Amino acid sequence: MNQFSIFKVIVIVLAVSIGSCSKNEDVVTPEVIHWNYEHPEWQTQGFSECAGTIQSPVDIQTTNTIKVDLPNLVFNYSAFPIKIIDNGHTLQVNNNGTNSVTYNGKTYAFKQFHFHYHSEHLLDGVASDMELHLVHQDPASGALLVVGYFLKKGAANPVFESVFSNWPKQKETEVTTTTSINLTTLLPVDKRYYTYIGSLTTPPCSQGVTFFIMKTPLEVSGAQIDQFKAHYDHNARPVQSLNSRLMYEDIL
Ligand SMILES: [Zn+2]
Repeated sequence: MNQFSIFKVIVIVLAVSIGSCSKNEDVVTPEVIHWNYEHPEWQTQGFSECAGTIQSPVDIQTTNTIKVDLPNLVFNYSAFPIKIIDNGHTLQVNNNGTNSVTYNGKTYAFKQFHFHYHSEHLLDGVASDMELHLVHQDPASGALLVVGYFLKKGAANPVFESVFSNWPKQKETEVTTTTSINLTTLLPVDKRYYTYIGSLTTPPCSQGVTFFIMKTPLEVSGAQIDQFKAHYDHNARPVQSLNSRLMYEDIL
């Protein structure tokens, strides 16, 4: 091996180590497949379902939506203390099922919410500043219902203030706080939405997730966006093809 070949080997080794997650994690959990947003072709990294045909996020093209009067989403939300984790891909607040949403006669337990910068869904090709995902699950079937809110730069959001100010110092460790938040104070009165069937937007990209993308965005201040960006300046999966799926728009 000449000097140039040795140099090439070093470059490759360096590239591989930079591409994976931190060294510490690899030592503790060598079996975990790490993924990131720089290389979102996760289907080539062992997550085959990411190549499926009913994936999320998507671009919501309002000229193509099926415009109908759909059932209301009922938010059974009340105050709960923040349990928070920086999972290495986003900031997530967990809930012990004290909150829920009811849709079409079925109640889904509220599991967690988390953030994306910029938004994952697009509206007529345009991304919003951020996106909030409220994740709910039917305890009987395990089916997931995700409510997505576009976050737009505007007034400071007091609930997100409570969340961001409790950002854990250590990654992948859930922190229980004494701070309570009530998401009902956050939700706009207009609860009309776009809805379609998609997937988790992170590996393993499990399909069959019902998405509700709310039409009325929430406001978040520029300083709060910057606060999130300081940790995650790009955690949005590129949009996926809608394929043969229909996008419904609740108009009344
Ligand atoms: Zn999400």
